[in-house]
Amino acid sequence: MTAYVLAPAAPVAIPVEGETGAFPVRRVLCVGRNYAAHRREMGGDDRDPPFFFAKPADALVPPGGAVAYPPVTANLHHEIELVVALKGGGADVPVEKALDLVYGYAVGVDLTRRDLQNAAKDKGQPWEAAKAFDASGPISAIRKWSGAPPQGRIAISVNGTVKQQALIADMIWNVAEIIAEASKLWTLAPGDLIFTGTPEGVGPLVRGDKVEGEAEGVGQLSFQVA
Ligand code: MN
Repeated sequence: MTAYVLAPAAPVAIPVEGETGAFPVRRVLCVGRNYAAHRREMGGDDRDPPFFFAKPADALVPPGGAVAYPPVTANLHHEIELVVALKGGGADVPVEKALDLVYGYAVGVDLTRRDLQNAAKDKGQPWEAAKAFDASGPISAIRKWSGAPPQGRIAISVNGTVKQQALIADMIWNVAEIIAEASKLWTLAPGDLIFTGTPEGVGPLVRGDKVEGEAEGVGQLSFQVA
């Protein structure tokens, strides 16, 4: 057993419905622009291929955790997303085998410092400060599920007003295709999560906002921006 010079951080643990044990998170990948209308609102083209970015595991906020308004932004945006949790891994996973890796699903919010993201895009700089900041990934409990996710409504409301809603079935790249694509770029492993992209209607959050998200058949989350 390795001795450490500092106490190592505990794995980030996401609760699983109906289980006493939690899901230990390894990596968090995120898909950009996976719904056509959002791709257009962000200035993209429907034929753009999907792309990936990442958040650190410790950016996640399990249910009940605090979500503070982050520093160094004046334009914090919500992006409601279906999240895939993996129990298996591998590289170059064929699409036909990709759903075998699925442990379950959750609903999460890819919080984004949109002003920093736009500045990074303008300068050709990386997105970490815009996407991978502390508490940038509030997430629900994981629902164990085999195969493709429920294809129903995904939505987010702010102070009771619906801001984003779509069908999971509207995703350009489905879950099997996302897993297969990600596995071309990274060797996936049990504990990995993938945020699968957000539909149109992204918009700002301010301190005090009450945020409620849902993916039908998957779960709900809620938090207040502190
Ligand atoms: Mn996103």
